[in-house]
Amino acid sequence: MARKPTYQAALDEYFAEFEKAVAKALVSGAEIAAAAGDALAQSRLVGGIRWDQVNRAALALVTQYAKDVARGGSLCTVRRDDGTTAQEFVPWLRDYTETARNALVDLVEEHIASGQGVGALADTLEPVFDSMKGHAETVARTEMSRIRNDAAFGRYLKSGVDRVEYLVGPEPCEICEPFAGTIFAVNDAPWLPQHPRCVCGFAPVIDVPPDEET
Ligand SMILES: [Zn+2]
Repeated sequence: MARKPTYQAALDEYFAEFEKAVAKALVSGAEIAAAAGDALAQSRLVGGIRWDQVNRAALALVTQYAKDVARGGSLCTVRRDDGTTAQEFVPWLRDYTETARNALVDLVEEHIASGQGVGALADTLEPVFDSMKGHAETVARTEMSRIRNDAAFGRYLKSGVDRVEYLVGPEPCEICEPFAGTIFAVNDAPWLPQHPRCVCGFAPVIDVPPDEET
């Protein structure tokens, strides 16, 4: 890039702090989300919740998550061109702050070029900060859903559950609606969340008397 604005360094510093703050908020929220997911899974499986186990499982999950977020992203489900899905490390936190930083630099440069005053600059920047706030909330909700589902799924696997039922929220989106009520073998179940702000989950399919099996 040719331009070398003097405020670039100040913005870099600001966004480094911002990134750290977002990462910290995500990791502290993740512990609660993991405990909630694991507790929900246990109550579905056995009816009673072993909190000593929940805390241990949540801690193990969040330890890995904290390492990922420190790298500026997390393991996310990605859709390949052939329609299959896979889990990959996606550096969304890094991309997110870089995009926001570039948007700010562009706005400030345009503003300076247009010769308007500092008061007008605040008005120009406000929507950028508003959209960052909105985006941060989406990121947080999506990440918490991911952690909750990972914790629940981990508990199902440990308990020997081999099939799960796909549960949708009260107003399922068009991506998730076709999955509602579908029974998956645990190895074929899609990773959740399927999209930002997805609230879907899985319930274990538990075989009771063998004569009720089809
Ligand atoms: Zn969904």
